[in-house]
Amino acid sequence: MKKLLLCSLLSISATGSFANDSLTLKTMSDEIMLRGACYNNLRVLCKQIGHRLSGTPAAAKAVEWGQNALTVAGADKVWLQPVDVPYWIRGKESLKFQFGKDKKIVEVPVLSIGNTVGTDGKILSAPLIMVNSIDEFNALPAEKVKGSIVFFNYRFRQDIINTFDGYGDCGKYRWTAPNMAAAKGAVGTIIRSVSTGLDDAPHTGSMRYADTVKPIPAMAIGNTSADMLEKKMKEGNATAFMQSECRMEGTVRSYNVIGEITGSEYPESIVLVGGHLDSWDVGEGAHDDGAGCVQSIEVIRALKALGIRPKRTVRAVLFMNEENGLKGGLAYGDSAKARNERHILAIETDAGGFSPRGISLDMGESEREQIKAYRNLFLPYGVYDFTQEHGGADISPLRKQGVPAAGLVPDPQRYFDLHHTPNDVFEAVNHRELKLGAVTLTALVYLVSEHGLKSGNVQP
Ligand SMILES: [Zn+2]
Repeated sequence: MKKLLLCSLLSISATGSFANDSLTLKTMSDEIMLRGACYNNLRVLCKQIGHRLSGTPAAAKAVEWGQNALTVAGADKVWLQPVDVPYWIRGKESLKFQFGKDKKIVEVPVLSIGNTVGTDGKILSAPLIMVNSIDEFNALPAEKVKGSIVFFNYRFRQDIINTFDGYGDCGKYRWTAPNMAAAKGAVGTIIRSVSTGLDDAPHTGSMRYADTVKPIPAMAIGNTSADMLEKKMKEGNATAFMQSECRMEGTVRSYNVIGEITGSEYPESIVLVGGHLDSWDVGEGAHDDGAGCVQSIEVIRALKALGIRPKRTVRAVLFMNEENGLKGGLAYGDSAKARNERHILAIETDAGGFSPRGISLDMGESEREQIKAYRNLFLPYGVYDFTQEHGGADISPLRKQGVPAAGLVPDPQRYFDLHHTPNDVFEAVNHRELKLGAVTLTALVYLVSEHGLKSGNVQP
């Protein structure tokens, strides 16, 4: 008890002129850690709705859930913003290999990459070629690739400490490898999953065909299967058998879900916090991005529960279709522009529900310095890293319009074990870590809504 008191006294004196803010942040932390609703909200989203790919009935249910959760949280106003989203269907899928002399057939766990075409449910068989990198692929003459299935055996780099940097390095194999293979006449692509996991979980995720290629099916396999395939390919030839029913079924009307507390002094100035409501069609979308949705709702709930009326409008947005189209983020950006809305900061939480470590800042130098001046206020909550500079996908259209953007930076070490896999379930989220993220977001939203964010000489 004594030790606790000493800690909070120290944190107050260390923050000097922000002493009142420090006390307010502690009440927010207490409210969320003791009475927070976000963990239970996540349980309902994950267990009663589950995964919710854009366009599916589950995504429609999630919209209803979000509307209700924001209302229960106490938002002054809750509304839906229409978004037309692509509706991609996975259907049944399988992947088998036949190796060298013994002709034995081996089936491996597989997930088609999102948005890909399938094989119309038929078996597509072709000789397999393995390359370890894009450079190696580029060195292959087109006649070698033509008619084959290309296996891109590129590993997620475990030596890169920030796994989001590793994702940037490895993610291009999911995004572009199918296009590269198709351009040289391949009939299918398999990638080693974009995964830090030492297991056999395949990771799905998005890709987009270039206009210049004939779409070919693309699949991902887990690291263990990829290791096996690598070993077998070194020993001799292999044939791959791909089978899937993946297809696009046009577009479906869906919605962003929005709730806000109207600002008391500058209601026209908006501080936005959001995550995305859609998920991939495996697992429960718990870390990606159920966590971000329930944390954004928690910001509204905590402010209301504490009777804090922010000076500026605080808006929580649950974006639709981040995973395979970004239509929600784009629709929101278009609407903000058409309505001439003034966003002074947009914050995204879409990096997992793990312990918060920092806040990334994608904004001008003067805004960055203002937020960094709050650093000591965040230290008691384990949030220290203000060096990163990305915002988030859903808020990127706002960023392009000049809105300062920020992102919650949780500990990144376990995220890419689970990302876009059947293992991203409610049980993989820790209630304290999830709540601490909500504390960080509530604190940031509060500080900016209270003190504004000066851009040059303009006080919004
Ligand atoms: Zn996400």
